[in-house]
Amino acid sequence: MNIHEYQAKRLLKDFGVPVPRGYAAQTSREVETAISHLSDDEKIVVKAQIHAGGRGKGTFVDGYKGGVKVVDGRDAALEAAGHMLGNTLVTKQTGPNGRKVQTLYFTEACEIAHEYYLAIVLDRETAQSVIIASTEGGMDIEDVAEKTPEKIVRVPISPTMGLRHHHCRRVAFELGFEGDQVKQFARILTGLYKLYWEKNAMLVEINPLITTPTGDIIALDAKISFDGNSIFQHPDIQQLRDLNEEDPKEVEASKHNLSYIALDGNIACLVNGAGLAMATMDIIKSLGGEPANFLDVGGGANEDQVTAAFKIILSDPNVEGILVNIFGGIMKCDVIARGIVAAAKNVDIKVPLVVRLEGTNVEAGKQILKESGVALTPADSLVHAAEIITKQVSEQKG
Ligand code: GDP
Ligand code: MN
Repeated sequence: MNIHEYQAKRLLKDFGVPVPRGYAAQTSREVETAISHLSDDEKIVVKAQIHAGGRGKGTFVDGYKGGVKVVDGRDAALEAAGHMLGNTLVTKQTGPNGRKVQTLYFTEACEIAHEYYLAIVLDRETAQSVIIASTEGGMDIEDVAEKTPEKIVRVPISPTMGLRHHHCRRVAFELGFEGDQVKQFARILTGLYKLYWEKNAMLVEINPLITTPTGDIIALDAKISFDGNSIFQHPDIQQLRDLNEEDPKEVEASKHNLSYIALDGNIACLVNGAGLAMATMDIIKSLGGEPANFLDVGGGANEDQVTAAFKIILSDPNVEGILVNIFGGIMKCDVIARGIVAAAKNVDIKVPLVVRLEGTNVEAGKQILKESGVALTPADSLVHAAEIITKQVSEQKG
């Protein structure tokens, strides 16, 4: 689960990491209030809040440039806000459709002496957390990683030992900090690690972490991703979820305890079990088709969940065919069959539907489907099912 920059900065502040003073706003009235808290005699930063980076270099769909603007005083801040709020911002990370900006963040501006990069991320390969840092922070960190990887420092942290002072000293040294800055940096890294660890984050990233001309170290941007599987342990974090930033189909699926991830293709898959869902997607792809989604109805789905799954699938305008692939174990084939029949009554399935059932109560399941009169093609093996659906979908395209 991701959160907005302004929320991440609030957390950073709680964990002792210095951030610029700032105010979030979602309506024009809130915009005015937010700006009134900042000085008219100083520079103000206006920042579009979307769950994607690259805002500084982004462009709005109407041609307005920059989702992060450093402007002079309140009037200029108000003007920038007028361009951004409700507008759609396209960045390298949003994809071509961009994201609608529904929240703005106004902060006091800092004078920048240098921009650094600092992150802690879970490295799945080594099953450790890793500190990633660079003296080349700012908006081109991806280029640095690609062209001059030696400028990026990686320091693993053992999960049993945790962050130690020697880690802080080593990274501070690599970044070239001296004297009091080493102490400041150690406090920042310690706070960052504590936040990362206690809240089950998978990534905490500060880019840029800056030094000011007077030598202070401040976090100017922040991104945090949390482990969705442990979010129930952190109601304070759960509260920060912004459904505007999520695919409505995925939100609906999570309400019904379905694991659903939207993809770009046109063949919808309704499968039980993550492994079988992967295998189903692989076979569709190997036959030249493109899966429209990953959908795992789980081991013990009931009729209602199957109906909800069909509704979600059919709300995707890209879907041109559906492949149901169920291996009945705990989940019985007759239950799934009843779910399909109920769904067909509830929602108008206009696209080809191929159903492959196998396992517990398979004969009963097939019988229910046959007697229901629902328009579908039964298949006996996964490969056969995938062949039929890819063929039917490509044929209706002509
Ligand atoms: P991103 O483009 O989505 O990563 O947004 P950031 O919050 O990182 O802002 C982009 C860039 O704007 C930063 O790398 C800075 O160069 C600049 N910027 C942001 N805040 C300030 C500020 O307070 N003062 C100055 N001078 N520049 C800023
Ligand atoms: Mn940034």
